[in-house]
Amino acid sequence: MTPETNFKLTYATMFNPPEELHTRFDEALAALKPNLGKEHGMIIDSKEHFTTEKFEDRSPTDTNLLLGVFQKGTTADANLAMDAAARAFPMWSRTPWQERVCLLRKAADIMDQRTFEMGAVVSLEVGKNRMEAIGDVAETADLIRYSCDRMEANNGFIVELGNDPLVGFTSRNTSVLRPYGVWLVISPFNFPAALTGGPAGAALVTGNTLVMKPATDTPWTVRLIAECFRDAGIPAGVFNYVSGPGSTVGQALIDHPQVAGITFTGSYDVGMKIGRDFSSGKWTRPAILELGGKNPVIVSRHANLDDAATGIVRSAFGLQGQKCSALSRIFIERPVYDTLLAKVVDLTSKLVVGDPTARTSNMGPVVNKAAYRDYQAFCSELNTAGKILTGGKVITDGSYANGYFCTPTVVSGVPADHRLWQEEMFLPITMAAPFDTLEEAMARANNVLYGLTAGFYGSEQEVEWFFDKIEAGVTYANRPQGATTGAWPGFQPFGGWKGSGSSGKNAGGHYYLPLYMHEQIHTIVKRG
Ligand code: NAP
Ligand code: MG
Repeated sequence: MTPETNFKLTYATMFNPPEELHTRFDEALAALKPNLGKEHGMIIDSKEHFTTEKFEDRSPTDTNLLLGVFQKGTTADANLAMDAAARAFPMWSRTPWQERVCLLRKAADIMDQRTFEMGAVVSLEVGKNRMEAIGDVAETADLIRYSCDRMEANNGFIVELGNDPLVGFTSRNTSVLRPYGVWLVISPFNFPAALTGGPAGAALVTGNTLVMKPATDTPWTVRLIAECFRDAGIPAGVFNYVSGPGSTVGQALIDHPQVAGITFTGSYDVGMKIGRDFSSGKWTRPAILELGGKNPVIVSRHANLDDAATGIVRSAFGLQGQKCSALSRIFIERPVYDTLLAKVVDLTSKLVVGDPTARTSNMGPVVNKAAYRDYQAFCSELNTAGKILTGGKVITDGSYANGYFCTPTVVSGVPADHRLWQEEMFLPITMAAPFDTLEEAMARANNVLYGLTAGFYGSEQEVEWFFDKIEAGVTYANRPQGATTGAWPGFQPFGGWKGSGSSGKNAGGHYYLPLYMHEQIHTIVKRG
């Protein structure tokens, strides 16, 4: 429970929001409006840092709305941030882990106090509906707390080992996990708070120092995360916030010789290149890569079709299909294909697309002009390859004229070998196909580069089969709350197999923190 509210925010709250949540969000949004369009610096070594070149952050809901002006970082700024983080590492890594936990819990508490303000920024900046926007921020604080809890539960990852028998000597052996050095966090636009703050919290609590760079579409949200670290009293240089294009300042950070490790969340192509860069230096450096998805659901004829339809629509169109866990492939057993698809189309056509900050909107705009153009190109391609059952159009009239609004789109009849069964579209478009045997459905479900999330609806016996055969890191069965989406720290640690992730361990999970440290064995021998 946040100190400021009388309820605990989780993904589940999003379905039954208390009235207070709406009131608080509306107040925060109103308070924010007079502050739009201001300039924001980078934060390097705890100091405001400005560059000659700037870039504008505009809302995808209305491109006339200037949210803020941000610094367009260069290699020189990347170097400054890296140097500050490198200087702070000896001190921070030797700060007792209990003190680090204390400071990070304080940062999480500050995020709680600012949840609604930050949620309003996320909604304006990304185009997330208010529930999802608040959720992104609440999840960030929970991810940071989870890292603190794991540090504590594992006693700072110091483990006494067996003492090897030596005649005439006594030995004492200890395993210690120690931080790597300067850790880079490069995050995507779609969960700018959680996917920056979560890994940042893990890197910091384990004793690494931090440089973080947000997506060009979401510099403001990440600036606010940095402010929470600063206001918690995390020392200068320990965390640094750099903004600017991935291809320039991002690449300069990656190429910097001081970088000890990275958590990159984003697309497959950029992530795989980073992975190669990190393994081709003088030694291999850790690269935690959280990449794309092409997430399937399989629905058997034994499924509860209403639950399936609800879960499918939520996961296909939440955040306009721009979640790495979004449901993009629906496989339905033939006898229930028409009935289920009719339910899906019916629910989809009832979704309200509009201003994401408005209480009534289910879906906001897609994130930028490139995504908007992609949507139109994919729809035109799919209209030829198959049949668009609902959606397929952009909305441009009245208040929609200056935003990137797309209708949620369900497509059927696309041949199995079409490229769009393979490629992540990252848009409110989902494709359905019938199957005759569960084995055939599983073969198709697994026949992609990715293995992030997956869903199933059917009998209990079939569920066991599904968990056994599916190649994915986060899997759900018979879940109306979301077929493939809606993970929450502590409940569903998040990560992918195959092309969806590099570490094989999920973020916010049991095995996550050790990824940020290397092991050192201490053996001390005494005569006698
Ligand atoms: P993206 O285009 O790959 O960008 C991700 C981040 O990388 C951005 O900060 C971007 O900066 C930066 N970047 C781009 N090129 C770079 C380079 N050469 N060197 C260093 N940094 C570089 O991804 P996105 O469109 O923001 O996000 C969508 C993707 O993220 C999807 O594929 C989605 O599935 C994936 N995702 C995965 C997870 C997961 O947990 N597995 C979660 C969320 C999203 P700029 O914005 O300035 O280009
Ligand atoms: Mg923008």
